[in-house]
Amino acid sequence: MLRFAPSPTGDMHIGNLRVALFNYIVARQRGERFILRIEDTDRERNIEGKDREIVELLDLFGIEYDDLIYQSRNISFHQHFASKLLEEGKAFPCLCSEEELERERERAQKERRPYRYSGKCVDLSLEEAREKGGFAVRVKRPGEPISFRDLIKGELTFAPFDVDSFVIVRADGRPTYNFACAVDDMLSDITMVIRGEDHLSNTPKQIYIRRLLGYGKEITYAHLPIILNREGRKMSKREEASSVKWLLEEGFLPEAITNYLILLGNRTPTEIFTLEEAIGWFDLTKISRAPARFDLEKLRFINREHLKRRSPQELARLVGVHPSLGGLVELYLEEASTLKELRERVDRIFSGEREFGEFEEEGRVLARSIGEIGELPKDFGEFKRELMERSSLRGKRLFKPLRILLTGAPHGPELSELYPHLRDHIERIVR
Ligand code: GLU
Repeated sequence: MLRFAPSPTGDMHIGNLRVALFNYIVARQRGERFILRIEDTDRERNIEGKDREIVELLDLFGIEYDDLIYQSRNISFHQHFASKLLEEGKAFPCLCSEEELERERERAQKERRPYRYSGKCVDLSLEEAREKGGFAVRVKRPGEPISFRDLIKGELTFAPFDVDSFVIVRADGRPTYNFACAVDDMLSDITMVIRGEDHLSNTPKQIYIRRLLGYGKEITYAHLPIILNREGRKMSKREEASSVKWLLEEGFLPEAITNYLILLGNRTPTEIFTLEEAIGWFDLTKISRAPARFDLEKLRFINREHLKRRSPQELARLVGVHPSLGGLVELYLEEASTLKELRERVDRIFSGEREFGEFEEEGRVLARSIGEIGELPKDFGEFKRELMERSSLRGKRLFKPLRILLTGAPHGPELSELYPHLRDHIERIVR
């Protein structure tokens, strides 16, 4: 069983989507089930409606899951397992106040050493803690290092000092992320976890928790290198292009975003492919250990390739114009890479706004001439001859203003190719 475990605390980041895709692909390859687990235990950070957005996005990207679990529904299990660890003496109650811990953190920072729990409550008995009330639960620091093999990073070992005596249940009864996650992965019989490398230091803690609980099965881990922006810095949540919603609004197709995220920092047999094709050859161990660099230009190229695979009718639907304009939209794939850009090109044709510049007079003459022709010839050559005759314009003085008149832009696809698509709409175009 594999899982995608997002927190409903913000817009979906491309890094999250990449994690979802990889888990889904590997689940399909291994013939295992795949679940969506909404990690909503940290109530203060949850944002209303973000869980629904996650569900809608997975749907849009064709990432199918077998079950949807809300982590908060497992809280009674988290508390049960914490009590078990307390009773077995593998965890201890902690009465240290937030202020006290904060002071220790500050001191560690000043002394430039990593903060670790002082160990003050490690021998506190449960009875004493119960009398005083309001205690957190911490696991005892492990006696030996925790090692595991990561599919991408290789063999890793964490010292007991780095795992530390960490909190598993807060004084108000809420489980911490590491504890809830470790228990849930155990309860769902997760076999493999693929996630971002920002979770790397959490992994020994989660492995340790399951060992303390006596769970014998090993989970395979793969931590994906982070995604950097063009400048080589970590792609922050505030950068537009890191938001899946923004990319969709810009007119990137889900299949193109999918293609790009699978290609990123990877070695693949082809550059342009579908999710189904990738399931056939995807190999997690080929993912580069170095951070991947997000390149919007590359995504634009891939998007255009996927747009080219769509039929004219589909293009018209995606752009939101009448199906009869599909062929016209297709021609603009020559210069546009997103649905938004395609829409702008087509809108400009029908906008009625014309900037003729130095060809103001010619523009007027041509509009009048077209009006006089009546039924327009099917053939562009014939149309051109008719116009030359009626307007007496030639060369640049004919073609520059004609292009602007017909398309609203000084440059674009060949007029002879555009003409058959524009002909039936000429009254709406030349006003
Ligand atoms: N809720 C965590 C996140 O969104 C889950 C990490 C994990 O996959 O365990 O990053």
